Amino acid sequence: MAKILCNMNVIKLLLFRVKYRYCAMRFGVVLASLISAHLLSGCATSARPVVYQPPSRTVSAISTNLPAPNAVPHNVYHEVGPSETLWRICSIYSVDMKTVMQVNHLTDPTQIKKGQKLLIPNTYGPRPNIPLYPTTRWTHIVIHHTATDEGSAYSIDNLHQQRGWENGMGYDFLIDNGTRGKASGQIEVGPRWIKQRDGAHTKQGDWNKKAIGIAVVGNYSETGLPDRMFDSLTFLVSTLKKFYNIPDRNIVGHRDVPGAATECPGKFFPWTELKRRIKIY
Ligand SMILES: [Zn+2]
Repeated sequence: MAKILCNMNVIKLLLFRVKYRYCAMRFGVVLASLISAHLLSGCATSARPVVYQPPSRTVSAISTNLPAPNAVPHNVYHEVGPSETLWRICSIYSVDMKTVMQVNHLTDPTQIKKGQKLLIPNTYGPRPNIPLYPTTRWTHIVIHHTATDEGSAYSIDNLHQQRGWENGMGYDFLIDNGTRGKASGQIEVGPRWIKQRDGAHTKQGDWNKKAIGIAVVGNYSETGLPDRMFDSLTFLVSTLKKFYNIPDRNIVGHRDVPGAATECPGKFFPWTELKRRIKIY
């Protein structure tokens, strides 16, 4: 009996290798790391029920010039957002992880906690780094505004947790407006996106399952969208649209979702210009 089980495990492992070899060829991911990640996730034990695991991240879309970098390297304090890793933080500021660990007296990169302030030395500022996951579930994009003067992924995650949303910030992405220590146009990635969970940004129908939720910080029923935020939004929407093959007609504002009674993302939100820009991006 033990021999039969052992043989079945060998066959399964071979099947995993074939499956992941295809993924690795397609997306350029190291085969060995995928196999070990899969085995570590518990899928190697045949007696357990299959547990859904978010797909491995295969691509990062990185912009080298958004938001506009500062002319000289400088130090910034970064407040760790929900589900942010040290690797991601160092990547968005283009700084060496060892150096950041040294200046913050960290001995283990997993030590960092949400809300912790980290010194980031000699950076030109944050640049967008968008993790993209191979899946067919995302067919729409819904754009929101926060209708607040300020905000960051950290503060909005706290707010949404206080509302009882245990998975935190309801949006998948947040574009900052230069408040709460973030740069104007800085793109923050939410914990739901990192874990590929349903959103909590649109009550109607199955929109939280199929639509990527992006929020711009601010109230755009009162004022226009600042240029840096608009540039970052264009980059983010265009990147997602291309990767997930989302047609232009499925890129909508919250107010355009059937049944939604709201003017979100605000009457001054520049829809016509956004649609024009993403067509030619
Ligand atoms: Zn909204």
